[in-house]
Amino acid sequence: MNDTIAAVAASGGPIGIIRVSGAQAIGAVSAVFSPKNGSPLAEAASQKLVYGTLSDKNGHLLDACYAVVFRAPHTYTGEDMAEIQCHGSTAVLTAALDALFAHGVRQAEAGEFTRRAFLNDKMGLSEAEAVHDLITARTVEAAQNAAAQMMGAVGSSVQQMRDKLLGMVAHFHAIVDFPDEDIDPILFDDAAALLHQTTSQLYRMAESYERGRILREGVPCVILGRPNAGKSTLLNTLLGRERAIVTDIPGTTRDLIEENVKVGQILLHVTDTAGLRDTTDPVEQAGIDRAMAEASASALILAVFDGSKAIGEEDMLVLARSAGHRAIAVLNKTDLPQQLDEELLKKQFAHIVHLSAKTGEGMDRLLSLIPRTIGFGETAFDGALITNARQAAALARAAERCEAALYAAQCGMTPDAVVMDAEGAIAALGEITGETVTESVVTRIFSDFCVGK
Ligand code: GDP
Repeated sequence: MNDTIAAVAASGGPIGIIRVSGAQAIGAVSAVFSPKNGSPLAEAASQKLVYGTLSDKNGHLLDACYAVVFRAPHTYTGEDMAEIQCHGSTAVLTAALDALFAHGVRQAEAGEFTRRAFLNDKMGLSEAEAVHDLITARTVEAAQNAAAQMMGAVGSSVQQMRDKLLGMVAHFHAIVDFPDEDIDPILFDDAAALLHQTTSQLYRMAESYERGRILREGVPCVILGRPNAGKSTLLNTLLGRERAIVTDIPGTTRDLIEENVKVGQILLHVTDTAGLRDTTDPVEQAGIDRAMAEASASALILAVFDGSKAIGEEDMLVLARSAGHRAIAVLNKTDLPQQLDEELLKKQFAHIVHLSAKTGEGMDRLLSLIPRTIGFGETAFDGALITNARQAAALARAAERCEAALYAAQCGMTPDAVVMDAEGAIAALGEITGETVTESVVTRIFSDFCVGK
């Protein structure tokens, strides 16, 4: 970890950024960057942009741009760091990196800056994982939740619980070490109270992952319906633009059309499908088979029915496919005289929405119903939602061990029974903060990062 690393941290826009971290960071950037004010970059104040010229490895002028130095320990990685903020073409960035490599710097690996920050105690593991969430966030709400976690929302509450458990275990250890002394019954009562409170908090946090995952990943949702029910029109109205071809010729949508739509606070991955009907056309049949498969894998089915027509055999395929699935019946074409008898739908669907995909009338009701149907009501995005499977699993394990310790304390078992389970909980919590995590887990976590972060 003593070597100096560099990577392009921003590219593809008018301005690109190269980050450098390690003992040689400031020296290496100083070697390729000459401040216009004539004083060496190595002497510049920390965190202040300096204007100057950037040279390639042969000393030829490459750009007129900015550089900035950050002196340890108050840096992202905890090491000396420097950045070059130059023009963003691949040519400039590659040549600038090459120039740095010629001064003893090597290419950074994926996530290596954040890994160094973690190893240098600049952030806990849950904060580092939140950095990744923030980079990959697809909605503002997901970003807000990740930002709060990056600032310690998960890490600090886990740390607090862990510290309290450690204090309790230390007390019990004292008793185990002096077995001849009487055990104060208050100690068991206090331990039980703490374990009770911690167990509930841990289960609450672990269970929030169900919603946290929806926040981070979005929800797969499929639009099913017979040909001409108005599926493509519904998709276009959801998107607010013409994406799918709308015609009154049945069988127009043959393949799956996938789009992301923000509904309330969540991202729906909506798939429009081929209309379900009996067909002899093999291409259309292949599309119908795909629609059926897609429906199985989706978290929500929007089952579209043409309200201006009586229920037909083709609608029965939609009813059958939606059975047992989380689904909303969309009774479309309310702007036309209604023919469909709803009774059959009421038997199967908990939610029926009347709307006109063509005019938009009734769409609001559908939009407000979708989040509630998938169990995602109004939420504050203050970092409380666990969005990470690894953390959720560790929280669940900690909760189980805490509960077992609680049972031991309540039953007045020997102190070592309480200690054993409490220590299991402490270890599981340490996996979240990073204190008891294995090297291979750390490697896996950071390998998911992009290079430059
Ligand atoms: P799909 O085959 O289920 O995708 O159906 P489309 O979205 O292609 O629509 C089939 C036909 O129904 C088109 O002529 C649409 O303009 C029409 N349509 C769709 N939704 C509505 C609606 O709410 N009201 C009316 N009047 N027509 C609609």
